[in-house]
Amino acid sequence: MKSHSVRPMYVEFIPKTLEYGVLYISKKFRTASHLCCCGCGTKIVTPLRETEYALAEHAGLVSLTPSIGNWNDPCQSHYWIKDNRVVWAGPMTKAEIRQGRAYDDALKSAYFGKVAWPWWQQAWGWLKRFLDKFFR
Ligand SMILES: [Zn+2]
Repeated sequence: MKSHSVRPMYVEFIPKTLEYGVLYISKKFRTASHLCCCGCGTKIVTPLRETEYALAEHAGLVSLTPSIGNWNDPCQSHYWIKDNRVVWAGPMTKAEIRQGRAYDDALKSAYFGKVAWPWWQQAWGWLKRFLDKFFR
């Protein structure tokens, strides 16, 4: 059954056995983990680093960006965690997944290689993905 909310739990170490519906957050090790919100039981690890995930918190509500895409597992779940809510996205096409991955890889190599992309190139990448999604 799909979950529509998560409960943040602050821990030092991520436990071996996770409870469904709980988002475990370890600030010490800069990582968060939860079981896939579709209920398939896959453990999702979201490292909280510049090139991976960002955790936003306010008044006990947590959000993770970017979205969580479980592309390596049969469920192919795609959702956002926003203010403790699970916001489900429609299934992405394989082409969109590839495109997203290629973009992420480019972003990572730009970051690690300390090569700054011109801002307009980044903006165009985002705009293109946005247009592809909505005007297909
Ligand atoms: Zn799943």
